[in-house]
Amino acid sequence: MSTLRFKALETVQHRTTINVISPSTKVSDYFNSNVFNDAAMKVYLSKEAYQAVNNAIKNGHKIDRGVAEQVASGMKNWAMSKGASHYTHWFQPLTGATAEKHDAFFEPTEDGKSAEKFSGNALVQQEPDASSFPSGGLRNTFEARGYTAWDPSSPAFIMEGSNGKTLCIPTIFVSYTGEALDFKAPLIKALHAVESAVVNVSSSYFDKNVKKAFASLGIEQEYFLVDEALFNARPDLTLTGRTLLGQSPEKGQQLEDHYFGSIPPRVYDFMVEMEIESYKLGIPLKTRHNEVAPSQFECAPMFEEVNLAIDHNQLLMDLMEKVAQRHGFKVLLHEKPFAGVNGSGKHNNWSLITNTGVNLLSPGKTPETNLQFLTFFINVIKAVHDNADLLRASIASAGNDHRLGANEAPPAIMSIFIGTQLTKVLNEFSSNKPTTSSKTKSSIDINKIPEILLDNTDRNRTSPFAFTGNKFEFRAVGSSANSASAMIVLNSIMADQLNKFKDETDALIKKGSKKEEAIITVLKSYVKSSKNILFEGNGYSNEWVKEAAKRGLSNTKTTPEALNAYISKKSKEVFSKNNIFSERELDARYEIMQENYVKKIDIEAKVLAQLAISHVIPSAINYQQKLSENVASLKSIGINKKHYEAQLKFIEEISNYINHIRVCVDKMIIETEKSHHIGKTHQTALALCHKVKPLFDEIRNSSDALEFIVEDDLWKLPKYRELLFVK
Ligand code: ADP
Ligand code: MG
Repeated sequence: MSTLRFKALETVQHRTTINVISPSTKVSDYFNSNVFNDAAMKVYLSKEAYQAVNNAIKNGHKIDRGVAEQVASGMKNWAMSKGASHYTHWFQPLTGATAEKHDAFFEPTEDGKSAEKFSGNALVQQEPDASSFPSGGLRNTFEARGYTAWDPSSPAFIMEGSNGKTLCIPTIFVSYTGEALDFKAPLIKALHAVESAVVNVSSSYFDKNVKKAFASLGIEQEYFLVDEALFNARPDLTLTGRTLLGQSPEKGQQLEDHYFGSIPPRVYDFMVEMEIESYKLGIPLKTRHNEVAPSQFECAPMFEEVNLAIDHNQLLMDLMEKVAQRHGFKVLLHEKPFAGVNGSGKHNNWSLITNTGVNLLSPGKTPETNLQFLTFFINVIKAVHDNADLLRASIASAGNDHRLGANEAPPAIMSIFIGTQLTKVLNEFSSNKPTTSSKTKSSIDINKIPEILLDNTDRNRTSPFAFTGNKFEFRAVGSSANSASAMIVLNSIMADQLNKFKDETDALIKKGSKKEEAIITVLKSYVKSSKNILFEGNGYSNEWVKEAAKRGLSNTKTTPEALNAYISKKSKEVFSKNNIFSERELDARYEIMQENYVKKIDIEAKVLAQLAISHVIPSAINYQQKLSENVASLKSIGINKKHYEAQLKFIEEISNYINHIRVCVDKMIIETEKSHHIGKTHQTALALCHKVKPLFDEIRNSSDALEFIVEDDLWKLPKYRELLFVK
């Protein structure tokens, strides 16, 4: 009898590489070919329709129904010319994945024939009857309807299946009463808020020509690849996305021989095809390489406007899974698929850019442009300082809990790394005597603002939020997350902060301060009041945990607690003042996130119990039986006991581990059950986190010890060394 594990290993051995056909060796020949972009619109839309869409994209103007009719018809003609037969509104519900519901263009007509149709109404709005998506109480059954509404700022695209193509229209997803049920709706609001705030500050103080601005985002995506056959032989991977058991391999990442190493051929083929599919959809992938852990990889696109970058990342995650299947791989996007080796993140590189082409987080050459840089730079620091808990909450998830604070990824303590040069600049800047009265001549000469020469090698991999030359890199975002969660918060708090800065500065100017003087005075006070969020040292060290506690910085290690920041009085104020979330929306969102956590831990507990009882213990008993038979036969032929003492010891150890597992599994089942009877979702989440999850580790320890003892042939689950090293 060969188990699934050995069959899988055989399958892997017989895998061959898959031929990947590229449309052209020149990417520019087919980049964006499946996107209804500017060029396609020019061909397929009337002048009027083209202008209306452009106006919607560039200026956020509404498109009226009549024009929508024309746009729909043009879009349909384009999509059909590409071979699409269906269309769908493509949206991002709070499950984390993307959602689609396909409708055919085809419609029967009265004369018994049929035609391909796509109306303006169908483009603008759809009612997907998506009553099963989480709403956190925003929808009762009598108002269960959810609506999707077209987001013209992100272009429609065609998704290719092996047997058909579908036109996808990016949309927001809202309830009947208008509350957001997705990531995109609040993201668009947060981006709008930050853009207006940036334009307001820039055009008032630095450059009258700044009429528009946008937030930019470049998302680095880390992931693991494992062979599909081995994946399928691990129920924990298939059901939870991570291994709940498994002894660390003898060789892990100690040698760091995988990092930036040559890419294994099967993986290389997968990457090439993933890139081809991405380019067709306009996803500008630039880099690919091995990551630190064995079988871990990373890709990163060129940065784009935030909303587009996030749509592209969501699409990319989807594409990766589809392409991987063709190559016999499974993509693991979980933050911590394997204990003992690094987990995966999704670094969010973020900046602010004006219509005049200036990156506001890029230091300037002249004192004036430097003051502009310092203004935005210091306001980011202040925003993060004042809202660190909210930022922490934005990256909280059951999966990311395994990373943050586990000495391999940014800690759960929010801090900012800015590098030696800028630390010096800020120190000098804030130690100048502040101007107290507007009447006395300013002690600050704008020409004293130092030239900022950046050392680009100044990197700190241990910081959750690092300045990297001309952008901030939010490194604590989890690999499976929708980046919108982090970007909604970051852009909202930045908008809020810039508005406050504008008010304070204007107040000083009104009292008679010169513009530069006022700006500098306010900035100086920010540097002082937000100093304790700056940290240049090793974020993984124990010293930092102590130091951070002394500074009064939060260190919230688990999701149920971290999420509380969403419903604090302060957060509710920031969000409602800037028109991002109503209180009701925040409460609902909070409920959904706690619920998500509960569901994840619940499933993990069930899967772990199953694995322990029906995989681990039977394997251990089989081996114990073999040992017992061996002892009995040695005894029967009169061998002295001292010659089978080792066997006896194994027999005893196995019994002890089996007992321990059994006791813990029982306890885990009881505690899980109990957690569901103690009231609010938040309480359940806390109980699962603190009473149930610790039992996972106990069970795992005994199971991993058994894996070490039990004869290899009798072990049913693919081992770490096979999952991580066999390709
Ligand atoms: P590293 O691995 O060293 O952090 P990468 O080159 O892998 O760097 O990724 C850097 C990411 O930052 C890329 O996606 C890049 O496009 C992005 N980026 C560069 N400049 C900006 C900017 N001004 N705004 C946002 N993202 C940026
Ligand atoms: Mg990075």
